[in-house]
Amino acid sequence: MDTKVKIFSLRYMDITSDVLHQKLKDFFGFDSFKGDQEAIINNLIAGKNTFVLMPTGGGKSLCYQLPALLMEGTAVIISPLIALMKNQVDAIRGFVAHEEGIAHFLNSSLNKTQLQEVKDDLLSGMTKLLYVAPESLTKEENIALLRQIKISFYAVDEAHCISEWGHDFRPEYRRIQPIVKEIGIAPIIALTATATPKVQQDIQKNLGMGDAKVFKASFNRENLYYEVRPKANREKEIIKFIKNNSGKSGIIYCLSRKKVEELSELLNVNGIKSLPYHAGLDAATRAANQDKFLMEEIDVIVATIAFGMGIDKPDVRFVIHYNFPKSLEGYYQETGRAGRDGGEGQCIAFYSYKDIQKLEKFMQSKPLAEQEIGRQLLNDTVAYAESNACRRKSLLNYFGETYLQENCGNCDNCLHPKAQFEGKEFMCTVIELITSMKENFKAEHLANILGGVSNSIIKSYNHHKLELFGIIPNKGADFWLAIIRQGLILQLLHKEVEKYGLITVTQKGLEFYEKPWSIMLTEDRKFDDSDDDDEIQSAGNQKHHSGAGDEALLSMLKDIRQSLSKRLNIPPFVIFQDPSLEDMSIMYPTTIEELKACQGVGEGKAKKFGNEFIRLIAKYVEENDIVRPTDFLVKTVPVKSSNKISIIKSIDRRTPLDEIADSLNIDMEQLYDEIESIVNSGTKINIDYYIRQVVDDDKVGDIYEYFKEEAVSDSVNEALKALGPDYTEEEVRLIRIKFLSEVGN
Ligand code: ADP
Ligand code: MG
Repeated sequence: MDTKVKIFSLRYMDITSDVLHQKLKDFFGFDSFKGDQEAIINNLIAGKNTFVLMPTGGGKSLCYQLPALLMEGTAVIISPLIALMKNQVDAIRGFVAHEEGIAHFLNSSLNKTQLQEVKDDLLSGMTKLLYVAPESLTKEENIALLRQIKISFYAVDEAHCISEWGHDFRPEYRRIQPIVKEIGIAPIIALTATATPKVQQDIQKNLGMGDAKVFKASFNRENLYYEVRPKANREKEIIKFIKNNSGKSGIIYCLSRKKVEELSELLNVNGIKSLPYHAGLDAATRAANQDKFLMEEIDVIVATIAFGMGIDKPDVRFVIHYNFPKSLEGYYQETGRAGRDGGEGQCIAFYSYKDIQKLEKFMQSKPLAEQEIGRQLLNDTVAYAESNACRRKSLLNYFGETYLQENCGNCDNCLHPKAQFEGKEFMCTVIELITSMKENFKAEHLANILGGVSNSIIKSYNHHKLELFGIIPNKGADFWLAIIRQGLILQLLHKEVEKYGLITVTQKGLEFYEKPWSIMLTEDRKFDDSDDDDEIQSAGNQKHHSGAGDEALLSMLKDIRQSLSKRLNIPPFVIFQDPSLEDMSIMYPTTIEELKACQGVGEGKAKKFGNEFIRLIAKYVEENDIVRPTDFLVKTVPVKSSNKISIIKSIDRRTPLDEIADSLNIDMEQLYDEIESIVNSGTKINIDYYIRQVVDDDKVGDIYEYFKEEAVSDSVNEALKALGPDYTEEEVRLIRIKFLSEVGN
């Protein structure tokens, strides 16, 4: 053991470039450093504070893992997630065979024995990397322990957690600096994939490393394709997208746990292998689902943003945002999980302003300062979503990076450019306004002035009296907001993030104003919210699309229903009712599965009567070269309302129907409706026990005969007319249930 540990405790001057490369190969199996890794490691080994801004997948971990293994003492690595720590520790132990003690983690999940083991290894000098959660770092006993050992350096991973402007602020991260002082000063390396200038400042200030050497990699991920889609029909579009990309791995992010579960189920129903992941699942299920995704037993993981930190699956081919994210930092981080291997990575986000309003509502319970921050971050995501400018350019601009190329050619806006217009004059108008207002207002306010919106705020400043108020007829606030946003991207304007997002004019902007050059701009996209309640209409629930069907097919379907009815000696309406046939004539189902998506067609009926129908339809589709309305049918998760399930169970237990109605708190009328719909979709139930109690035997026979021999439809009214005044509606309905269930199901 001694010799090994010595090899790992090199002094600064002994760690030459050769040694670094050798150890990179020995421990990690890599032949060369990626990006700035070597320079970063050298800076740290030289005992200097180091700040690393690198996109997700850039290779940040190695920047502290390798020096930790080589330097004297133990590196303390502060990392926010317990699961992440364990993965990393396992990985390190894997690199350095037979040296369990080489890496440990210290967090609340350890039991006494495990804790003792960590302490022993630490004190014996065996441990080179100690991962700690910030909460554990602040504990007295841990501070006391760490004071006894030599610390090689501190690494603060996911350092954006320090900043309220990051996407997952952790208050405990703010206490790192004082604790470092208590334990013992050593160089600090902070690492993050969030690079907005604001977050960067916060991190350096808070860790007291204003002197740090900053290594900022480009955040551009050439291989990622960005697209924003309106949210109408998003579930259908998601299914379609995945089917067109079958066999590829992907992640879908949703805002709520409930939606995660629902969507995952919907995908499975549609033949897409997926599992849910969110913080509400127990740890074992979460771990199992994540493993199945990593092992490719499933293709798609549907998750809240709890999923993904530290996940290193190199070939995630798409990341879909079902809900638009709260911040562009979060969005970039999440989309960053696509295409880590440099291959294809499609990033598609669904957007609607309603989602944004929902997010705003959630914020209302938060402290004011936090709301202010949250709102600014949201405004930036709206700007991004609605913009017609190159996505890559917008994103990189947001992260303080200039994208020099004219056009990225790999985003929706570049591939489908919108009409452009010369924006010189408009931009000058904006600059004129900002200057005349002494750079004291936010984008929305400026846009409202130019667009002639006289709301109470505008009036309170008397801005509706300005000469520039409503300067161009029929160019509203939206138009001007788009101009301002593009001014930001072009760096003619600047947003003072520190000061509530006030808009100022840059030096370049002033030069532009003096001597304007041509700039081509676009208007923002209009996202229509009219089709709001998004979720898929079950094909079976679409009420009568009268006349929309294929008449010729419909009459053929009626013919086979007729002949089947003769052959089986049951009335046609027992087989399929008209709305079911109409649905078939619209959707052209050719499998039993698809047939079940038609109105009133349950499992039972589909299997019992469906074959002839789908065979006919398949033949018809083939012969007439029919392009089916969708190349697939989106199936819904059957809504077996809990009422239906409990009704079926109670009937199995022979509970009197009036008691069932009572216990469900519904009236008899509603109960009959429910039972009829159960029977109509093909489930067999037996209510003889109840009928015997409430309907006279003779009457049962009469009504049954009527439906079997005379009826041309299942109408209750017609039955009452035919049977005469001695029979009640309730009796007819009960026997009809019995009849349909026995004959049809
Ligand atoms: P980050 O924390 O920046 O998101 P990771 O540290 O998880 O990124 O590294 C991302 C991937 O890059 C990992 O699969 C890692 O093994 C790989 N990697 C890191 N450094 C190198 C290197 N020098 N050569 C090849 N692959 C590397
Ligand atoms: Mg990382």
